[in-house]
Amino acid sequence: MPKQKAMMRSLSRKGTRSNRKPAVAVKLPAPAERSVCERCGALYLHESWRAKRKLALGPGETVRWTVCPACKQVEREEAQGRLLLRGKYLAEAREEIERRIANVARRAAYTQPERKIVSSEFRNGTLEVRTTSQKLAHRIARELCKAFGGKAAYNWSDDGSVDVVWTRAAER
Ligand SMILES: [Zn+2]
Repeated sequence: MPKQKAMMRSLSRKGTRSNRKPAVAVKLPAPAERSVCERCGALYLHESWRAKRKLALGPGETVRWTVCPACKQVEREEAQGRLLLRGKYLAEAREEIERRIANVARRAAYTQPERKIVSSEFRNGTLEVRTTSQKLAHRIARELCKAFGGKAAYNWSDDGSVDVVWTRAAER
């Protein structure tokens, strides 16, 4: 993976349109190595955010406290993924479904701290779960289908965000 990254970087450097940096690089300057998110404990190391790990510091080395991009996204309530859960079965098994969603999110965060739940709200028979990344919304929907059955319909927008509607009619 790092090899691929390095190659992509060298390719983009070779590009003639040198002012066209990838959107992410323009938007978010990379944090310093060994930055630690003061909210979720994610650690920025070797150019990516990782879940909280043990970190050995050499003499003179120190961590820098910051707030990671995903936590900032949660604060701004900015979602790239949205799940809408509907159907009779939701009313019957909402607690179990919510527990499952929390579980999936926890497991995802273990390896990818940038994937978080922004909000979860039940209103008028629909559970709306918003996530920082469309991949997490996708993964949750997949796990719901696996665990409870039902159907998931995906709708991607031009900006890369996704709406997923998961429905299941009633008890099997
Ligand atoms: Zn964080």
